[in-house]
Amino acid sequence: DQSPVGADSAQDSRMPAGAVQNPNRTEPPQSSMDAKKLPIYHQKNKLIQAVRENSFLIVSGETGSGKTTQLPQYLYEAGFCKDGKIGITQPRRVAAITVAQRVAQEMHCSLGLEVGYQVRFDDFTTPSTVVKYMTDGCLLREVLADPALSAYGVIILDEVHERSLNTDILLGLLKKVFSNPHTASKGRSFPLKVVVMSATMETDKLSVFLNNCPVFTIPGRVYPVTCKFGQAVGPKDLESTAYVKEVVKVALNVHTTEMAGDILVFLTGQVEIERACDLLFEKAECIDYRYDVYDRTVEGLLILPLYGSMPTDQQKQIFQPPPPGIRKCVVATNIAATSLTIDGIKYIVDSGFVKQLNHNSRVGLDVLEVVPISKSEARQRAGRAGRTSAGKCFRIYTTEFWEKCMPEYTVPEIQRSSLTAVILTLKCLGIHDVIRFPYLACPEERFILEALKQLYQFDAIDRRGKVTKLGELMVEFPLHPGLTRALLKAASLGCQDLLLPVAAMLSVENIFIRPGQPEKQKEADQKHKALVAKTGSMNDFALLLTVFQSCKSSDRPSAWCKDNWIHWRALKSAFSVETQLREILLRLQQRRDFPVETFDGNKSELFRQCLCTGYFTNVARRSVGKVFCTMDGHGSMVHIHPSSSLFEQETELNWVIFHDVMVTSRVYIRTVCPIRYDWVKDLLPKLHEVDVYELSSVAREEVTDDEMKKWETKEAAKRQQGSKVMKK
Ligand code: ADP
Ligand code: MG
Repeated sequence: DQSPVGADSAQDSRMPAGAVQNPNRTEPPQSSMDAKKLPIYHQKNKLIQAVRENSFLIVSGETGSGKTTQLPQYLYEAGFCKDGKIGITQPRRVAAITVAQRVAQEMHCSLGLEVGYQVRFDDFTTPSTVVKYMTDGCLLREVLADPALSAYGVIILDEVHERSLNTDILLGLLKKVFSNPHTASKGRSFPLKVVVMSATMETDKLSVFLNNCPVFTIPGRVYPVTCKFGQAVGPKDLESTAYVKEVVKVALNVHTTEMAGDILVFLTGQVEIERACDLLFEKAECIDYRYDVYDRTVEGLLILPLYGSMPTDQQKQIFQPPPPGIRKCVVATNIAATSLTIDGIKYIVDSGFVKQLNHNSRVGLDVLEVVPISKSEARQRAGRAGRTSAGKCFRIYTTEFWEKCMPEYTVPEIQRSSLTAVILTLKCLGIHDVIRFPYLACPEERFILEALKQLYQFDAIDRRGKVTKLGELMVEFPLHPGLTRALLKAASLGCQDLLLPVAAMLSVENIFIRPGQPEKQKEADQKHKALVAKTGSMNDFALLLTVFQSCKSSDRPSAWCKDNWIHWRALKSAFSVETQLREILLRLQQRRDFPVETFDGNKSELFRQCLCTGYFTNVARRSVGKVFCTMDGHGSMVHIHPSSSLFEQETELNWVIFHDVMVTSRVYIRTVCPIRYDWVKDLLPKLHEVDVYELSSVAREEVTDDEMKKWETKEAAKRQQGSKVMKK
């Protein structure tokens, strides 16, 4: 059964909304006709010329004008691939994949040949790939391996207005290296072209940053969008999830009272989106199209989710026009705001919220939070309805919410997230002074210091701020530094087989399925409990290992997953990630200086002790009752998350380490492992050992030996004091 929900298709069999599919239709023939309608098409020759004449160029234009899909093709046709590849970066993984698929289709080639993509843990390129879409994180890794980017003729940094951390860093690096004639030609036989693409915002500032490079603006027409505010979500609703129900209500109202035209709903994340799709489906099934719908040509609703970790074949459907008489309703994350353009959208339903990774200074960690969007973001969302004709935007929130809760602009990621990984990258690139690096927007100095401190704690840099041998190994892994540290510890002890699967499992989406129905939930809980029993200990990390190994050794892994309420798709990617991490490790182990250590403790404790090496920054001690207190100097009060296998055991625990935290009205720790104080005793003082302000002088300039000595004496004194406090 593959039809949308509609009057003549009110089938008895219920399908989950996520599985509502288009009826079997062949892909619309993609012709150059469509491409010729895009605003960018009229600028083709001028654009090619501009790229020829400038080593740095900014291209700006409304979203949907054809920058991402067309410009690389123009440059390819014009022969820019003669000497090297054209590389295009995207802040988002899904965007890199979908756009590459689209461009391969337009160029009539198989994906992975001339056109390919690379995202973390997924490389779809071959030696013949000349147009390569990738995430900004991937390009940053390539810079590490080859700072001259000698394989590339053109680098296009796309979606710069999104201000993702990695894109901001790449901008600084490209400016530093390629705008200086002395360094620009180092390691290259021909000059590199850099194109920076952005929606219309802030191009003046960008141009100044890039030494007044020219800005090429693609003229485009936008149609008016009328915006209506709602009554439902006001300043008081910041912490509730009522917005999911409200967007469903508003979307259905649009469906039944507005003229034909597709709907785009902006929500926050996968769970909320799937919930909304389910609700929409339920309600849409009850519509009687003879009486309930204002526009009689509308005969059904096609509900499609769109979020980052969705399988790509489902993502493709998003772009196909709906069948005649059917209204398409896409329920998406912020990805549909600028990265992907869906044609035919006439109505927007804006929840007003977005899921954002923020550095939470209260707990000293990065936390994924649902926060109000900025006003500029809200305008961008609304604009998606006015691309080809006038449109309407329904905001579910009140004007009071707009005034009081929504900031004017979105804060760039570099100013709100942990910088540990990028600072290590910069250090490995030989950039010692990370404070005076050319940032488009400077992060707060304390964030840089925090990162330096963490790197020091993981032994990735020494007291002078120089990268250690370990740091050089750590930078090779696309993982959180703490996890990498634990993995390297395990590898040095010869037990990487315990840590590799865990690192892989922590790099994919949540593998435990939580069904909505209470009965099913009970069954899932039982199955998950059985897996805990099989693990033999209460330890969420070990549980991940059990799931990985049990599934891998099963004859029919997908059936095993189904039976145990485990996400097969997530686990399949974990298998692939594990292989890739193993390959990186094997390559590094060829190095002569790869550390080798021996373990003289109890074998059964080996696994947890390795974890402690990377997670001693995330230690918590039981305080009173069920409340734990973190030991990182913040002393935050935290609770064990109900999803943890230790949730019911918590009163018997004294010391734990945890992988991450979730902040709601309380701070929860997730993926938890009990430990003994003995294992972290010698590591904990390291958390208080360095004074960040002293590290800052390290960040600025090389320190003399004299200063070093003074500092070390002072530190030793402090350490003694520190350990006294610890024993109390
Ligand atoms: P920009 O980068 O300027 O925002 P794009 O190049 O992403 O613009 O989009 C140009 C056009 O290509 C839009 O009309 C969009 O709908 C279409 N398009 C992009 N990706 C796909 C896809 N995967 N399938 C169908 N159409 C697509
Ligand atoms: Mg684009």
